[in-house]
Amino acid sequence: MPADIPGLHHVTAIGSDPARNAEFYTETLGLRLVKRSVNQDDPSVYHLFYGDHGGSPGTSMTFFTYPDVSPGRPGTGQATAVSFLIPASAADYWIDRLDDAGVDTDRPRERFGDTVVPFRDPDGLPLELVARTDAPAGDPPVGPVPADNAIRGFHSVTISLADTERMATLLETMGFDETETAGDRRRFEGDGDLGYAVDVRAVPDGPQGRPGAGTVHHVAFRVTREEQSEWRDVLTAHGLRPTAVVDRKWFESVYARTAGGVRLEYATTEPGYTADETLDTLGDRLVLPERLEARREEIESGLPPLDVSATDE
Ligand code: ZN
Repeated sequence: MPADIPGLHHVTAIGSDPARNAEFYTETLGLRLVKRSVNQDDPSVYHLFYGDHGGSPGTSMTFFTYPDVSPGRPGTGQATAVSFLIPASAADYWIDRLDDAGVDTDRPRERFGDTVVPFRDPDGLPLELVARTDAPAGDPPVGPVPADNAIRGFHSVTISLADTERMATLLETMGFDETETAGDRRRFEGDGDLGYAVDVRAVPDGPQGRPGAGTVHHVAFRVTREEQSEWRDVLTAHGLRPTAVVDRKWFESVYARTAGGVRLEYATTEPGYTADETLDTLGDRLVLPERLEARREEIESGLPPLDVSATDE
């Protein structure tokens, strides 16, 4: 068996207006745009990556932004919430900050001993801040949010399923331990310090998720290059049909869809976002995989302008 998976690598969701998306994640949430690229399977749309200063695994929230896409509906067979980790002392700062930015937040709630602040992004994607005393110092972006209060990366995702049993078994196979249960929610934890939790909710009566703006496209876990092929074998043994390894330039990936319809990815921590840009210039310009470089002019002219103020200098 390969070593236990410590946690999430990235989460990819679907957005609509790329400029509005970038403004929200960089200016309101204070994340850094660490990679500005295109959907490698559809280069007419951006693939935008936000994260901490260095784009560390476990911090990157990414979006395919289709300007004309219809709103989706979060529901079973999807990750239905993405949770970011903040220090416990930052909860009041964030409630005020989101309020000042005109973001509707739900009333803060207590979950497994942590304060949780639910809100939505401009496309309606359900997000949460989870405030914990053990939030690591991390590598916060230099930007509009003071480092003491900055989002550290992911805390968790919540996956909703009609039947949770097979997902629970898969997570345990991946090295996650079931640590808490409350109502329809079961918590599984890996031993990383970012993106280490997966909550699985049993929602037998749906509604079923419908892809579109404001929904999660897939959830990626971090693995090492050495063990990626072993994870493919584990997924196959689990009854899934993983893809071949796909080179995504900044990581190599294997994808698999669970029986419940959730798209998962197993992405390597190497080589990372500095594979084709320096740390100082991450996200400043459109970067393309080699096979698309020849089409750069055509691709750039088809993309809407995206002015992201360089907050990280
Ligand atoms: Zn991905």
